[in-house]
Amino acid sequence: MFKKILIANRGEIAVRIIRCCKEMSIETVAVYSTADATSLHVQLADEAVCIGPAKTSDSYLNMENILSAAMTLGCDAIHPGFGLLSENSTFARLVEECGMTFIGPSGDVIDQMGNKSVAREMMIKAGVPVVPGSPGSIKDEKEGKQIAKQIGYPVLIKASAGGGGRGMRPCYQEEDFDLAYQTAKAEAKACFGDDDMYLEKLILNPKHIEFQILADNYGHVIHLGERDCSIQRRNQKMIEEAPSRALSQELREKMGQDAIKAAKGVHYRNAGTIEFVLDQEGNYYFIEMNTRIQVEHPITEMITGVDLIREQIRIAANLKLNYQQSDIHLQGHAIECRINAENPKENFRPSPGKINSLHIPGGFGVRVDTTLYQGYQVSSHYDSMIAKVIVHGANRLEAIRKMRRVLGELVIDGIDTNQELQYLILHHSEYVKGHFDTGFIEKHLDELVNEQ
Ligand code: ADP
Ligand code: ADP
Ligand code: MG
Repeated sequence: MFKKILIANRGEIAVRIIRCCKEMSIETVAVYSTADATSLHVQLADEAVCIGPAKTSDSYLNMENILSAAMTLGCDAIHPGFGLLSENSTFARLVEECGMTFIGPSGDVIDQMGNKSVAREMMIKAGVPVVPGSPGSIKDEKEGKQIAKQIGYPVLIKASAGGGGRGMRPCYQEEDFDLAYQTAKAEAKACFGDDDMYLEKLILNPKHIEFQILADNYGHVIHLGERDCSIQRRNQKMIEEAPSRALSQELREKMGQDAIKAAKGVHYRNAGTIEFVLDQEGNYYFIEMNTRIQVEHPITEMITGVDLIREQIRIAANLKLNYQQSDIHLQGHAIECRINAENPKENFRPSPGKINSLHIPGGFGVRVDTTLYQGYQVSSHYDSMIAKVIVHGANRLEAIRKMRRVLGELVIDGIDTNQELQYLILHHSEYVKGHFDTGFIEKHLDELVNEQ
């Protein structure tokens, strides 16, 4: 087993990984920017190294500084967390070239799955259903319109390098194609420095259903059930739950088998997520694979009892999977609410600032993954997600009741957050009935935000 792991990340996920390492008796090295000098991950790690100024390109994306910190301090592995360098194949390769282990898949698989139009092609070969769309990327508006006509409107114009819901635009008719294409392409260029685009049919009112998989270095692959991440704003997840009410046991098994097929098809190893959209007729289509630990991984941990970070580390250390598929049983129901430093009433404007007072709820079946403490300064330089509140109940209604209690109890004073919005969603009759799709927040935004 590894002796010392460097965590190339910040925020709650860095804390989550450090905690797991401690439980495995592995020493930890935190890296931090000058803006994060007093952060919780720095305080909890055995050692910490400043890797540069606040800007992520100078610090958390600075591969040279991170690698030299890891080598100087004698680390034998690096965990990239999510976001930042986690899906950067160059980084994954450099870690290995420096004689350390990258806790994740190979650089080649990161490249293949990181290009979403290449990933589509590979899934077609693996026999996994994908959304009807363009074969590979499209070279210009003209070709895009030809393909859109063939697959039929509405279509979704998407960036091959996309992530975080950025670089995609729906288009309902040919007249609007040029503008939608140019807007999506410009956003892709700005966000990812890569404006390669592809087309998918826009699935109307879908649910976002994703499967967690684990694959070891010996070809064993299992899935750990699904997460329903349909409560989204602008294609970005806000509330996730597991399991999904929309899946029968039969459909769960079918999709789970396809998720395993997808992972085997690309010789995947370590933890990964296969994302699907599920239409109203029960048809499902692959949209992308995330080659890293996911923000919402705790809800899977709650219903399966499997520590996913621990499994990631074990797999990277060449150990065999601890579990067979038959060991995985989904127990009860889990929900996660992402708490963001933002003001929903002002178009979700980010709200950095100092935490004046804080109360983190607890209780049976409650988990709060956060870096907040009283006096902590939420920086404007990083992602606005500051906490994840996770609950586990015997069934969905119990989990909803628990989440309402927890959101009612949570106090984060000093900045604006989306806590009240989350509370209102948890009380919305359509949400409670399970009547929601990816358009839920947009559809109910006025009653949830503006009429308060
Ligand atoms: P997912 O839920 O599929 O893991 P998200 O929509 O949460 O992805 O996030 C989109 C992208 O932003 C991902 O690459 C994710 O890793 C990254 N991201 C999300 N939250 C944070 C955060 N707090 N810090 C750094 N990166 C983040
Ligand atoms: P990202 O890499 O930004 O996470 P995804 O391809 O996973 O991009 O899509 C993000 C979200 O956009 C999905 O969760 C879903 O809500 C929506 N979406 C993506 N593709 C489609 C599609 N073909 N039809 C309808 N909605 C889609
Ligand atoms: Mg996605």
